[in-house]
Amino acid sequence: MWYVPLVLLLLVGCTGENMETKERMPVLFVSHGSPMSVIDDSGFSSAMQQVGLNIPKPKAILVASAHWLDGTKVSCSAEPETIHDFYGFPDELYRLEYKALGSTELSKRVSELLGVGCDERGLDHGAWTPLYHMFPDADIPVVQLSINLNQPVAYHYALAKKLQPLRDEGVLIIGSGSLTHNLREAQWDATEVDARAIAFDKEMQEVLAKKAFSRVVEMDLPNFTWAHPTLDHYLPLVYIVGLVADEDKAVTVFEGYQTKTVSMRSVLFS
Ligand code: ZN
Repeated sequence: MWYVPLVLLLLVGCTGENMETKERMPVLFVSHGSPMSVIDDSGFSSAMQQVGLNIPKPKAILVASAHWLDGTKVSCSAEPETIHDFYGFPDELYRLEYKALGSTELSKRVSELLGVGCDERGLDHGAWTPLYHMFPDADIPVVQLSINLNQPVAYHYALAKKLQPLRDEGVLIIGSGSLTHNLREAQWDATEVDARAIAFDKEMQEVLAKKAFSRVVEMDLPNFTWAHPTLDHYLPLVYIVGLVADEDKAVTVFEGYQTKTVSMRSVLFS
């Protein structure tokens, strides 16, 4: 009976195709915190580990990190070095390497979508420290997008929208910054959290849950300039909200505070 295997083949073929087209990748905003989060046995590391285990395995990863501030560019190193762009931390941290490869395919795709050039750059700690826990085998290629601080917030939001097709091409996009990032009033040994950090965090949590993203672009939340005296750790969030689709829901994957003023809230949209 020849038709049985044929029907089976068709079914297998269709299922494979459907799975590929159906699987839209989530987008993640991560508050990466201090580089110590890599070696501290904190809740943050296990939360990131869980995210890695619970999302579909990406084909490649694109990270917009607060620690690559340049014109808008994409990285295109075949074997990106691990950049230890922090000072005064224990030696152990400087010995860690995250040996993911780059992806020429993804670098070219981002370059085409945004009309930007590329740079042979490695992975800064905003990119590799969360990935260290999410994908400890470093077996997924990673590409970075730099952030142009001279451009207005609306520019970054519009740029993110151009990256939307990547979500249907198996690419996980991560914005790595911080939900609040006032380092001027940070206290390393603080046991309390500044009330303004808590207020901003709660308000932003609601904004993200309601997907009221015009408020993210307009930056009209109370205490905004206190929470973000500079925009470097805020703009990665703007990229992520620009990539959220109608059907996505916001889920907080980690919340907590560091150094009195830094909210570590990290949010997955899927
Ligand atoms: Zn940072």
